[in-house]
Amino acid sequence: MDAVHEKLKVIAPATGEQIGEIEETPVSQVGSIYHKGRTAFQVWSKLQIGERLKYLKKLKEIMVEEMEVVADIIAADTGKVVTEALIADIMPTLDSIDHICKHAENILNRKKVTTPILLIGKRSYIEYMPRGIVLVISPWNYPLQLAMVPMISALASGNTVILKPSEVTPLVGKCIEDLFRKAGFPEGVVQIAHGGKEVGAAFTKGRPDYIFFTGSVRTGKIIQEAAAKELIPTTLELGGKDPMIVFKDAHLERAAKGAAWAAFTNSGQVCMSAERLYVEKEVYSKFISLLKKEISELRQGTDRNADVGSMTFPAQVQIVKDQLEDALGKGAVLETGVPPEEWQNGMFLPLTVVTNVNHRMKIIQEESFGPILPIIPFETEEEAIRLSNDTVYGLNASVWSKDIQKARRVASKLISGAVVINDAIISVANHGLPFGGTKQSGIGRYHGDAGLKIFCHEKSIVEDRGRKKTEIHWYPYEDKYPMFLTLFKSYFKAKRNWLQFAKSYLSILKKS
Ligand code: ADP
Repeated sequence: MDAVHEKLKVIAPATGEQIGEIEETPVSQVGSIYHKGRTAFQVWSKLQIGERLKYLKKLKEIMVEEMEVVADIIAADTGKVVTEALIADIMPTLDSIDHICKHAENILNRKKVTTPILLIGKRSYIEYMPRGIVLVISPWNYPLQLAMVPMISALASGNTVILKPSEVTPLVGKCIEDLFRKAGFPEGVVQIAHGGKEVGAAFTKGRPDYIFFTGSVRTGKIIQEAAAKELIPTTLELGGKDPMIVFKDAHLERAAKGAAWAAFTNSGQVCMSAERLYVEKEVYSKFISLLKKEISELRQGTDRNADVGSMTFPAQVQIVKDQLEDALGKGAVLETGVPPEEWQNGMFLPLTVVTNVNHRMKIIQEESFGPILPIIPFETEEEAIRLSNDTVYGLNASVWSKDIQKARRVASKLISGAVVINDAIISVANHGLPFGGTKQSGIGRYHGDAGLKIFCHEKSIVEDRGRKKTEIHWYPYEDKYPMFLTLFKSYFKAKRNWLQFAKSYLSILKKS
């Protein structure tokens, strides 16, 4: 143990008050933390899956008991409103435990697959073997869910876990550590490394068996590069610039209400929030008036009834400001909100709708992660699809229309990890659906079956009873070539010739 440990001051973004202090994990401990994780793996990985799930059920029980305390910690640490801490951080985490407890055994059990007749007499199956130590590196926007869901999945699959939570929301990292400790997980099965990017980088270099990263595209690329050097497999859950397409035949009041929520929930700091809104020209003006009315009724604050909280990460305010200045400088028009030079309310940014924008502006091409919503009119279905696909991202999207055939047709053409029809974001709330991005939104999927399988070596096993002396494909090859020709031709011909197949098989067998 190092004598002097760095302390992280924890400032509540909504109030600016110091609300705690967290001891950083010294990077000199990387080796011993990995050693502890590997030792624990020897026992944890050998437990029956049902035994491992008992710990997860206990964890769930504790989270249910402490739900309000956990919600308050998340709200204080992030600035998000407490209702969102509950519905978007705690609920999906609990639901993932439920889903995993219900399905893990079935997903990870040995599976028999059919064996082709050419491998006569053998059996084939797949086994799922835990990988070892999984390093989870998580962000600050949904600091509980985006850390705990991959952790829980990796643990259920038989791995041990090291979590490096975001230094921007360290109290939630501490809260996760406490929850796992209270659930009584065996020593070394779950370890938390607190600290910033240096700590993250040091653990990335510590040779984990898998890295599960959620965060920015920039950091994702750094981690992928480091992982590539050791051929460490990764999942990267990165950003999004999610389009929302509103057709003229949509329920416009619903779409306007949905747009206000999808754009401003979590102050827009959501990789799956509505970040670009495309509205069919005929209803463009009407839709904007409906949206403005919705927004005028939203309440920003920290009290229990507030709708929109503060920004979480001070540096993010500048990014949002730059994007808006760039757009306004190029002719964009503010429909709601005020120009950035008039922003006064610290980490509470005005809920901003911008029109007269185009695809050359940063506000359309770069992830905003703030309460800012640019709107563009479109004339045809093809144009809406083309514009939606025109960014480097592809995480989520939404299509709004009462014509369900049209909505499905458009959904199928969007290059996106997920699409929601007549709602937004909520595909993430169904743990049975795979979650992940296309293009620069990431690599890999989790949730659903994939969420457990990625943390395992998928092992193919072919089994022979071992009673025959030899096999037809073994040596000697003498005279077998023409017989194999006949065998394969009779087998692979459009109309299989079973008689010829059986004859040539027996003749090769005699030769073997
Ligand atoms: P965000 O701003 O969305 O949190 P980042 O990608 O900066 O995105 O951070 C996500 C997580 O990655 C945080 O836990 C952060 O400490 C960690 N991190 C940042 N840089 C590195 C790095 N070079 N190596 C490993 N982890 C890092």
